[in-house]
Amino acid sequence: MGLALGCGIVLSMMMALWVNRWEQLSRRTQFQQQSNNLTTALQRNLNRYTDVLLSIQDLYRVADNQVTEAMFGRFVQRALMVYPGIQALEWAPRIDHGDRPQYEQHLTQLGRGTATITERYANGQLGPATDRPDYIPVTYVEPWEGNEVALGYDLASDPIRRAALDQARDTGHLAATGRIRLVQETAAEQYSFLVFLPIFAEGNSAQGSPRSPDPLLGYVLGVFRVADVVEEALQDFSYTVDFRLYDLTGPPDQQFLGQYATTSQQVSIPANPAPLRSVSRSSLCPTVAACRQTLTFAQREWAIEFDPTSGGIATFPWGATSTLVLGLLLTGSLLLVLSRSQAEVERTREISDLKLRFFSMASHEMRTPLSIILVSAQSLAANHQTWSEGQRAKTIERIQTITKRMTQLLSDILTLSRAEANHLDLAPEIVDVTHLSKQLVDELQPELHPGQTITVEAQLTSPQAYVDPKLVRSILLNLLSNAIKYSPAHSPICLHLSQTAKTLTFRVQDQGIGIPAIAQARICETFYRGDNVGDIPGTGLGLAVVKTCVERHQGNLSIHSQEHQGTTVTVCLPWVD
Ligand code: ADP
Repeated sequence: MGLALGCGIVLSMMMALWVNRWEQLSRRTQFQQQSNNLTTALQRNLNRYTDVLLSIQDLYRVADNQVTEAMFGRFVQRALMVYPGIQALEWAPRIDHGDRPQYEQHLTQLGRGTATITERYANGQLGPATDRPDYIPVTYVEPWEGNEVALGYDLASDPIRRAALDQARDTGHLAATGRIRLVQETAAEQYSFLVFLPIFAEGNSAQGSPRSPDPLLGYVLGVFRVADVVEEALQDFSYTVDFRLYDLTGPPDQQFLGQYATTSQQVSIPANPAPLRSVSRSSLCPTVAACRQTLTFAQREWAIEFDPTSGGIATFPWGATSTLVLGLLLTGSLLLVLSRSQAEVERTREISDLKLRFFSMASHEMRTPLSIILVSAQSLAANHQTWSEGQRAKTIERIQTITKRMTQLLSDILTLSRAEANHLDLAPEIVDVTHLSKQLVDELQPELHPGQTITVEAQLTSPQAYVDPKLVRSILLNLLSNAIKYSPAHSPICLHLSQTAKTLTFRVQDQGIGIPAIAQARICETFYRGDNVGDIPGTGLGLAVVKTCVERHQGNLSIHSQEHQGTTVTVCLPWVD
């Protein structure tokens, strides 16, 4: 059993460890796969957006920079439909201060609610731009709905936008801004960014060489909300890892762009955004670098930091735990089966021991009385003419006594073997216990030693009890027989009957040889006899029968005895009216 338990536990733990390692590996692969997929999707979308801007640049080239608002609108229509991550595509020309009145007059004529070049003041209000040498006002806006306030807004009025405008102009390439709040942003909970592409008078802006600002006509630009960009990238696959976006090119206090939570499936900006490299490492990505991927576009670098502790990829080792539990359960069941079969073997051995003891006892206990009966019967047959009446009666009585003892022995064996085979039935019925006791006492009269008496004391409110008469008879017969056998002549025996609200109690009391203290613990075992019995006949089955019958009745048995003083046996049976 110990070996089976040890092997079971060790095997279960080994299996659990193996499953745990496998689980960890598959979780790490899943995590890496998801982060790679998202990075690829985001990078691909950003590339597409910049492609759209480059294609608008081509339009300017083809149209010799003479692009009307209507042409612009038609050209970008398809891109706006295909890429929901684009908030707006715009054209912002460079306007010299001298041309401002003419430009503003044009704005007024458009009749779209904007009559001046605007800028945002320190108090957050939008109003007429202060005088500057030149302006980059937003002029074509697609789509118009939702972006109305952008019309006339001077992009150069804001330092972050200005930095990207200058970078684009100086390099001739696409340049993205750091995080900004859009003039048309109403909710203000999201960061956005703009991507500028300069358009020069010659229309060959993409040479990469530094240029003077003179030939610059203006910029085509894309307006993007971080949340829309991320959501568009996520729409094609099921994604379960939280992440945060940072703009590595921006100053440290302006790097955080937003965080995506799989629970809400939204990008949000918390009150205290987590700083860069603050992801908690785990088995999914043991180093900060392993939790991170970077993107580059329009002269900026972004970082995505994935949160391995987010609920999407379960980190609890369910597989390993259930393997361990299953393994231990299997071990437990195996042990149960083993212990059962061991108990079965034990029982079989006990039964065969019992049988052996029974056969040796039977051969001993039955041979002697049978030979006495045979000899007595033979003598009676041979001498019945010559023997006196008294001699004949004595011989017949001896035969009867021995036969009764043998009958008792056989009935004890029957009771015990029935109980052993679980066939000792309990058949309670209404019994007059006083009458039953008196009847038994009468039956036992011939057994009494000279001068012995049995008194029946009944303290019953009602003599009727709901008990099994056969079992009660067996109990009383054995207890009274023992009291008679183990008491000397002229000693009193008392059978006391009483009842409480719940029990019916028999107490058999004698003043006989008593049971030695050392034997009392084992006295109810089959074939066990006290070593003070001398040549008093007995089989060691009586008390075992009593105990069996009491247990079958769900009662209890107690024995108080002192050597040379006497014995009191008390039987309590649950009382049923
Ligand atoms: P048996 O009487 O046939 O030996 P029991 O099972 O009835 O078998 O009793 C077991 C043993 O308990 C007896 O051998 C005896 O040692 C002891 N015993 C039982 N009842 C008494 C009693 N009333 N007085 C003294 N000893 C007793």
